[in-house]
Amino acid sequence: RRIVIAIDGYSACGKSSTAKEIAKQLGYSYIDSGAMYRAVTLYFLQNYVSLTDPIAVEKALKNIEIDFHPNSKTGANETYLNGIIVEDEIRKMEVSEKVSEVSALLEVRKMLVDQQRKLGKRKGVVMDGRDIGTVVFPQAELKIFMKADMHVRAERRQRELLEKEVMYDLQEILDNLQKRDEMDTSRKESPLRQAEDAHVVDTTHITFEEQVEEIIRLATS
Ligand code: C5P
Repeated sequence: RRIVIAIDGYSACGKSSTAKEIAKQLGYSYIDSGAMYRAVTLYFLQNYVSLTDPIAVEKALKNIEIDFHPNSKTGANETYLNGIIVEDEIRKMEVSEKVSEVSALLEVRKMLVDQQRKLGKRKGVVMDGRDIGTVVFPQAELKIFMKADMHVRAERRQRELLEKEVMYDLQEILDNLQKRDEMDTSRKESPLRQAEDAHVVDTTHITFEEQVEEIIRLATS
């Protein structure tokens, strides 16, 4: 039985690395919904799209094509914006600083939720984000809500970015995570919420292997 696994939670709780590993172990596909909001944000930045101009936003959205293609070496899905790989660029602070503002726009959410539902049509998918279990796939067979202590999250994110040779001050990362959590939980459109039927996984004191194991157990039980 192949199912849909929805993983939601705060920024930098380890959602995407966990989701990626679970997809690998189960032979599922992994979709990073945050990467889609980040790709739209990158396009808006590159093209100076004003968020307060609905016509400009609508026009921009018509020109955006987001795809995922597996990396030829690792097999991991990478994000493409209008045919160009943007996997590393969308993780930069310029994008992180703007993405919660962009993701609060109804038109942006409509377009991406539509696309996410299409990507989830084929069963056997792990998707992570903020509204996957509540809005995108309210019928998902397994819903996980991930959380972790803010400092632990900031340190993990800093290490992850360092691996990509991007260096940021811990305080700068902390501020960004705090600001995004605040905006993501308080926005009008599909705010970040824990679905009633979600299993909470707090990753503060457990290892990566343990959190993966727990979710795999839930998915296969
Ligand atoms: O998952 P990630 O941290 O890369 O997501 C970046 C931002 O995209 C989030 O802070 C949030 O504003 C937005 N997002 C969202 N809904 C999702 C996934 C991400 O609003 N399903």
